[in-house]
Amino acid sequence: MAGVWVLAENHRQTLELLNIGRVLASKLGTRLAAFLLHDREMAQEYIEYGADDILLLPSLPEDQSLDAYIPVIAEEAQKQEPDIFLVAATLRGKEIAARIASRLNTGLCSECISLTLDESGKNLEMERLMFGGAAAQKVTCRTRPQMATVPPRTFEPAVKQSGREGQIKELPVPPASALRVLEKKARAHEASDIREARVVVCAGRGIEKQEDMALVRELAEAVGGEIACTRPISEELHWLPENLCIGLSGINVKPDLYIGVGVSGQIQHVTGIRDAKVICAINNDENAPIFEAADYGIVGDLYEVVPKLIKELKGEK
Ligand SMILES: Cc1cc2nc3c(=O)[nH]c(=O)nc-3n(C[C@H](O)[C@H](O)[C@H](O)COP(=O)(O)OP(=O)(O)OC[C@H]3O[C@@H](n4cnc5c(N)ncnc54)[C@H](O)[C@@H]3O)c2cc1C
Repeated sequence: MAGVWVLAENHRQTLELLNIGRVLASKLGTRLAAFLLHDREMAQEYIEYGADDILLLPSLPEDQSLDAYIPVIAEEAQKQEPDIFLVAATLRGKEIAARIASRLNTGLCSECISLTLDESGKNLEMERLMFGGAAAQKVTCRTRPQMATVPPRTFEPAVKQSGREGQIKELPVPPASALRVLEKKARAHEASDIREARVVVCAGRGIEKQEDMALVRELAEAVGGEIACTRPISEELHWLPENLCIGLSGINVKPDLYIGVGVSGQIQHVTGIRDAKVICAINNDENAPIFEAADYGIVGDLYEVVPKLIKELKGEK
């Protein structure tokens, strides 16, 4: 049996992978399967979003983490021999994908921005950016499954087709993993995956003191966005965690709106925002390179501009 498989951590990412997965499965004339965590209602929904098969993972005991599923997924892949296996490129997704690829002794291309079939119509061509986005690399994989991780928001979500029918297969309970979950804590606001955010407010070195980060946070809240930063803010000053650093050595974001506050716009940073739909910049240096990348620029002191913006956004006069 062949097929295209998708595995994602959340609903939106699953829909995005179902969209591209459906395209590939139709071209290959094969079935599209999605992994899902023990939710039969959602299984029907994913079928209506394009899946032919749902591979239902059983619930885990409280003290088990998601990696307990890895042997079950790998075993199923050995049985069914899918052609293509797409995993959402979240931190956890990338780790799980790498461990499954290793078990299956197959290749894995990370952070793919395009997935097409080659001229033969049989092999997956996976494209990803290199050298900070200055070049694109096309990768093919000789082994099966051809595995790829795909960043959130690379593809549009699938469109629902009510009444579509498919099959649901329940997978066995995995053996207990050696890893135990000792404690679960709610995510700090800053720890969310900003690659999924529609609005990103980025703090740069123009912020003078750590306590002034509250201003950027307030702007992010007022505009309904997530906070992110440049490398000096996370790596040198440790005012925000490193998973919020945007750029060459950080992550790439694709928000509808990016607002840089006191960000100079060096190439290593701008490479991470090139896919933002609208870029706004607040900087007191009119020659700052960020203005070359920006759609809207405010030349001014952030300590004057940001409070005014917050007031406007909150409707205060
Ligand atoms: C190999 C390599 C990889 C790197 N990877 C990354 C990466 O992934 N991400 C990243 O961000 N950087 C990265 N860098 C660092 C990058 O080159 C820049 O140094 C960094 O992006 C600059 O951060 P910044 O804009 O916050 O600070 P600065 O360059 O210091 O800019 C601060 C800006 O704030 C403005 N400003 C100051 N005061 C005010 C005020 N009161 N009001 C308004 N504006 C004000 C200034 O005019 C200035 O333009 C990398 C560098 C290297 C060599």
